[in-house]
Amino acid sequence: MGEILHIPVEQALSERVRWLVKLRWLALGIGIVVTLVGDWWLGQVLPTLPLAICFGVIAFYNLTFWIVASRLVSQEAPLTVQAVLLHGQILCDLMLLTLILHFSGGLENPFSILYVLIVVVGSILIANRFSYLYATVATGLWAGLLILEGLGIIPHYNLTGFRLPFRYQEPWHIVAESVTLGMANFGVAYLSSNIARRLREGERELYEANASCELRAAELARLNRRLRELDQDRSMFIRLVTHELRAPVAAIQSYLRLILDGYVPEERIEEIVAKAEARARDQLDLIGDLLDLARLQEPRRQSEFTPCDAATLMNDIVDMLRTRAEDKDQILIIDVEEDIPQVLASEEHIRQVWINLVSNAIKYTPEGGQITIHLGCKADSKGERRVCGHVQDTGIGINPDEQKHIFESFYRTESAKTMASHGTGLGLSIVSGIMERYGGRIWLESEPNVGTTFFFELPCADEEPQAVLPSDAKAPIDKNAAPPALSAPSS
Ligand code: ADP
Repeated sequence: MGEILHIPVEQALSERVRWLVKLRWLALGIGIVVTLVGDWWLGQVLPTLPLAICFGVIAFYNLTFWIVASRLVSQEAPLTVQAVLLHGQILCDLMLLTLILHFSGGLENPFSILYVLIVVVGSILIANRFSYLYATVATGLWAGLLILEGLGIIPHYNLTGFRLPFRYQEPWHIVAESVTLGMANFGVAYLSSNIARRLREGERELYEANASCELRAAELARLNRRLRELDQDRSMFIRLVTHELRAPVAAIQSYLRLILDGYVPEERIEEIVAKAEARARDQLDLIGDLLDLARLQEPRRQSEFTPCDAATLMNDIVDMLRTRAEDKDQILIIDVEEDIPQVLASEEHIRQVWINLVSNAIKYTPEGGQITIHLGCKADSKGERRVCGHVQDTGIGINPDEQKHIFESFYRTESAKTMASHGTGLGLSIVSGIMERYGGRIWLESEPNVGTTFFFELPCADEEPQAVLPSDAKAPIDKNAAPPALSAPSS
């Protein structure tokens, strides 16, 4: 947005050059007619040949300028070349006007006022300082002509019958004519160049305002599209959440209704209540996961970025989940390298990573399977050390089509739904959100009915802190704030 836009000056100048050429054709036509009429009216006192040559020269250079101007436009000539062409035209006009005035009476010719017209046109077409140059040249040419004729250095062509034949020799007339025209020239140069400059500035401002409006409109349209996408995502998420929240409540309600309506025999009441309790637990798990997911959307806090030992946390979690694996006769293999550096992350978040990955492995691996948990350290392609871990199982696996959706909220594979009805489909979304939060990454390799391995990497605490520290300067730094609460293992 900081880009400044300018009017395409080159284009405007080349247009002006061509406009001037067209204007000259018109002026040439009028000039010839006026000269012929004047000559006829005065009884053919004018020298026809020199005047015809002057008009011919004008026609010739106008044609030349026309051709050159058209070439310059097609070759996209630089601004300075266009400006030189414009100066050339104005100066030629001033000189030819002087010659025509000389051959048509000099001081006696009332059309000396045409100098003012040329100065006005020049001042409108080109920048300030050149207006005064034109005014000076025009006044100099006129005064020079009058003086040379007055002194008899060059011949004088008298407009017999129109003005007194000796007037061109009277010094006061020469001075008065020169001063009057000089004042008119400088006056119009000042006025017209100022007016033209202001108009051009206004035009430029308008153009820039217009261009910046267009840019803003494009930016607004882009943001609007993004907002619509986000809104769609949000609506979709709300639909999913409400659907998922509704299911366990509806189940609990129908269990209770059965009991209240007396459809459940005495001996089965405990069993039905236990089922209702299990669904209530599902509901709590879901709410816990949703809260965790919502917390991951909040701005990052400085207090979350404290060094913690991923290996110790992993051992805690494995101890906690070991009985679940033993219940399924699964073999748990722990493979931890020595001297693993700490990671810069909240302990609660790292615990959540382990809980979700290990409990999933146990859940989606049949009885007697094997689960291997590895933790180590390696340097990435940029040479930065990263703590890397993986959880490998010999479970049901995930087919390739489903793998790309696996980190989406509420996504559960068909085989997982068959194997374990209990599950929120939020655990892996939470894990991937945690990885994103701390500059890490997570990915998987899996083969149906063979097993799955979830890999992750996190930056080490002893690496440059900028790699993982919150980049969001607006996030409040709260050293005493407690880390987000850990939900019960949902998987
Ligand atoms: P949940 O386990 O509660 O369904 P998760 O987000 O933890 O939700 O997992 C999402 C889905 O990913 C699971 O439903 C399952 O389909 C698949 N999944 C996760 N871990 C494994 C695994 N170790 N083996 C096979 N499938 C898995």
